[in-house]
Amino acid sequence: MLPRHLYVHVPFCARRCTYCDFAIAVRRNVPVDEYLAAFDRELQLRWADNGSWLLDTLYFGGGTPSRLGGDGIARAIGSVAKVATLATGAEVTIEANPEDVSPAAARAWRDAGVNRVSLGVQSFDDATLKWMHRVHDSARAERAIAELRAAGITNVSIDLIFALPDEVTTRVWERDLERAVALSPPHVSLYGLTVEPHTPLGKSLAVGGITEAGEDRYERDFLLAHAMMTAAGLDHYEVSNFGRPGLHSRHNSAYWRSVPYAGLGPGAHELRIDGDAMVRRWNDDVYVRWERSLAEGRDPIAGKEILTVENRIAEEVYLGLRSLVGLEVSGDERMRIEAWVGAGWGTLHTDARDSSRDSTERRLVFRASPLGWLRLDALAADLTAFRSR
Ligand code: SF4
Repeated sequence: MLPRHLYVHVPFCARRCTYCDFAIAVRRNVPVDEYLAAFDRELQLRWADNGSWLLDTLYFGGGTPSRLGGDGIARAIGSVAKVATLATGAEVTIEANPEDVSPAAARAWRDAGVNRVSLGVQSFDDATLKWMHRVHDSARAERAIAELRAAGITNVSIDLIFALPDEVTTRVWERDLERAVALSPPHVSLYGLTVEPHTPLGKSLAVGGITEAGEDRYERDFLLAHAMMTAAGLDHYEVSNFGRPGLHSRHNSAYWRSVPYAGLGPGAHELRIDGDAMVRRWNDDVYVRWERSLAEGRDPIAGKEILTVENRIAEEVYLGLRSLVGLEVSGDERMRIEAWVGAGWGTLHTDARDSSRDSTERRLVFRASPLGWLRLDALAADLTAFRSR
């Protein structure tokens, strides 16, 4: 079965943000031609013999895909078009940083078929953006949104980070949420900061330079965001994501439903169904090695695993709990789930199993609430252990 979703990793960043532990390649001058040649080779090597390959979503993530510029993204989409067809109404997303957006780039992206931009705003407080080592300031972020809209790309998602260390005193989370709401975004993604040990922030934490936000503040920030975004008409449809009805991310929703997806570019992961097996594979995440493998005609694969029964149970539980699609529960789990409902961690629904089949067949579905999402890891571990007995 061919995947209907394609992720493309573009690793380049102008510099590393203090909290970032992604697979990136810091480049002042982006080797656009070299990257695109390698990307085209990977498509040809791994996906050219598929006959008719239809894609519902195409997602350029990073790193910073917008660093490829207007022409670079258009050429990358052109390479995809040599081996696949974008379905009518396909969702085509690029992640962009505000400083890369210009009227010309926005028009070029639109003309190439991009219809959704995920914009790395992170905060509207300029001192906080400096502390994060971001290139842009808040005025640039607001201008980028206006330029994208003027070019006709209205489906713009705003990314923000919450639960910053106590030392970041100028950032007022409520004010950032108000600034975001004032821009009437169709979609917002919010991430609680996690300090990874090998990042600049992790090193600062190790020597006492910063203090991580405590659980209380994480919880306060998260619940405030839920209240303000839902009051503004956005559905809180996944633990980290809010969207207007009809404008939820279709690409990311595919991940949360565990459907197959292809992944290209350094460090990209993909999930394929092979007979009864679910197979995950991932590419070398070092740009120069990924590029060299392809220049020498080799698959840049770094690893591959067949998901075990335990992996699949854990994945099904975790993905089901994290989005409003919810998790189907069985009769012998009912008492445990009803205790969760009693604690306010979610709701239990009886849904038709599948509208295309006998509509009298019903299934029991648990949908986590924001309070449940604050305990997501613990709930997932508990139910996974129960199902794996
Ligand atoms: S722009 Fe994004 S990917 Fe690049 S360094 Fe910053 S956080 Fe990491």
